[in-house]
Amino acid sequence: MNVIGMSIILAKINDVLILAKLVVLAKLKLKINPDDFLVSTHRENFFSVKMFKTRSFCLYKQLAQLIIQKRYFTSASYSNRTCLSKIFLPTTKNVSNIKSKQKHEQEENIICESYRLMIRAGLIRRSSSGMYSLLPLALRSLDKIERIIDFEMTSIGAQKLSLSILLSASTWKQTGRWKSAGSELFRLKDRKGSEYCLAPTHEEEITQLVGHEIASYRQLPLRLYQIGKKYRDEMRPRYGLLRGREFIMKDLYTFDTSEEAALRTYEEVLIAYKNIFNKIGVPFVIADADSGNIGGTKSHEFHFLSQVGEDMILTCSNCGYSANEERAYGSLPLTKQAGNGVNKKPIFNFGISKNNRLIICILGSGYVLNVFKLKAAASENSFEDIQIVNDIKDIQINNNFNEIDIYIDITFQTNLPDLELFLSNKLFDENIYKLIQSNKHIITMHHGDFHNTSPGDGCPICSMSSVSHNNPLIGHNAIEVGHTFLLGTKYSEPLKATFAPETPQNMGELRPIQMGCYGIGISRMLAAIIESSYDEHGIIWPSSVAPYRVCIIPNSDEPLIQQATRNLFDLLTSISHELNGEVLIDDRTNLSLGYRIKDSELVGYPWMMILGKRFLESGRVEIHERRTRKILDVNFDEIKNIFLT
Ligand SMILES: [Zn+2]
Repeated sequence: MNVIGMSIILAKINDVLILAKLVVLAKLKLKINPDDFLVSTHRENFFSVKMFKTRSFCLYKQLAQLIIQKRYFTSASYSNRTCLSKIFLPTTKNVSNIKSKQKHEQEENIICESYRLMIRAGLIRRSSSGMYSLLPLALRSLDKIERIIDFEMTSIGAQKLSLSILLSASTWKQTGRWKSAGSELFRLKDRKGSEYCLAPTHEEEITQLVGHEIASYRQLPLRLYQIGKKYRDEMRPRYGLLRGREFIMKDLYTFDTSEEAALRTYEEVLIAYKNIFNKIGVPFVIADADSGNIGGTKSHEFHFLSQVGEDMILTCSNCGYSANEERAYGSLPLTKQAGNGVNKKPIFNFGISKNNRLIICILGSGYVLNVFKLKAAASENSFEDIQIVNDIKDIQINNNFNEIDIYIDITFQTNLPDLELFLSNKLFDENIYKLIQSNKHIITMHHGDFHNTSPGDGCPICSMSSVSHNNPLIGHNAIEVGHTFLLGTKYSEPLKATFAPETPQNMGELRPIQMGCYGIGISRMLAAIIESSYDEHGIIWPSSVAPYRVCIIPNSDEPLIQQATRNLFDLLTSISHELNGEVLIDDRTNLSLGYRIKDSELVGYPWMMILGKRFLESGRVEIHERRTRKILDVNFDEIKNIFLT
């Protein structure tokens, strides 16, 4: 027998009927005599085609194509059940396979595991620096986060709206943020030359909107929120969605008639936030971000603990105190306490305020200035916009300061020193020394905590309750995913968002609305969830936000397995409404079972169910739990118990 062409190994097709169908098709479409070729099955379900002498190679190729098409005609039929072969999920084993114009940025990003996993699991692709396309499965998870948030927002009476992303500069100029936002603001002009920015936040916009519509106390309280994209021109975008230039946020703004009412609102929102984070199911820490000495304001941060987190959270295991390093206070352990004035290498920081006051801050050796604490203390002394520098050469010194303020940190000296005694130490270089000597009449000295609290320092709460109880604070790296802030009248005053009170003190009195703003970084949260929940095999989604909860993998297209797959899909989706729309069939039987199992673990579905040989032999399903990697061997009746308990 004279055979031309090599055998083509085709994908698994186990339907014996294909042979007969193929013969008919070849005869009708390609007009080949069935006697001129041979299709033979060998090695399980693989089969090959051989063409005999009479026909050309071209015809041979056409026949091969026909057979490949045939694979789709004969592949498993799952009707309208969700099948992976129809879903855009470009998983990849190697991140470097993803083409990038800027390789260095890719490499920088790769050090962050959530970024690497999101690329590998086919959730995101990079569009440009700090900008990403969210692919269908990422969007499913994102939608679930949004639904949890929507539920909790609605439950506290908040209404959803949508504000423009392109904002006019005018309101930003009114609040002074057009200038203070600096280069992080994406600024642009329209064809008429009017200035705009891409919204990084919406306080101005919402305050103006509400200010126009609210006239009386009767229209308050009001709670409005939105979920949408925001923009920040990061100097160094990194870690994928954790620090991108485009991000999705939920922001809630609240409007009340009095400080007390705004505070009650704040407490209510805090509870809603706790519910949101509990429902998502990733361990979180609420850090006190209270600006300390600035009276009246209240602020909290919600964090996921993670090695790549850029915030440092200090917590006390004894009383539960938890604060961002930037805002934390702590008691100094005995070993670190300052010996009055004997500290040989103090750390100096200098600053000049807008109203021409010189600030000198002195810390003990090895300590870092906490700018928030210093500014908080300085603002009590009516400082405005202070620029802080380490080196006196970086600011212009003149002899015409209105006042000089010396801040002495507790790490340098344990009490407020006498000015003369202090100056006799000759701590400063000659120029400063002269300046101070000649301006003694305008010097004020302050003493307090102006340094960064660090892990190992004592808990401020515990040290207050008992002198001997100096429980050390523990440091954790963390990713900030939520922030609550009581704004007061910071925006309502400059933007004239006022209302007529119920009991005016004088005729026609208008009061500024008391506001609060509350954010959740949704796209960042998506990455942060992965960052705090993965192993060497891939992502481990919490059930609440997994793109799909169950992935069924039939190991072949055998009719019995197909039927069982359909039955299992229908059983799962009927067990509870929570699984409706949450079950996926990996019907890509042209890929090996091993490959599909690895793929399923990479994407991280909480449950993977395999229908294969074991099912044909004993009617049992192999169920893999992603989080524990436990394998259960159960029959159909027992599956219900797993999801109902
Ligand atoms: Zn404590």
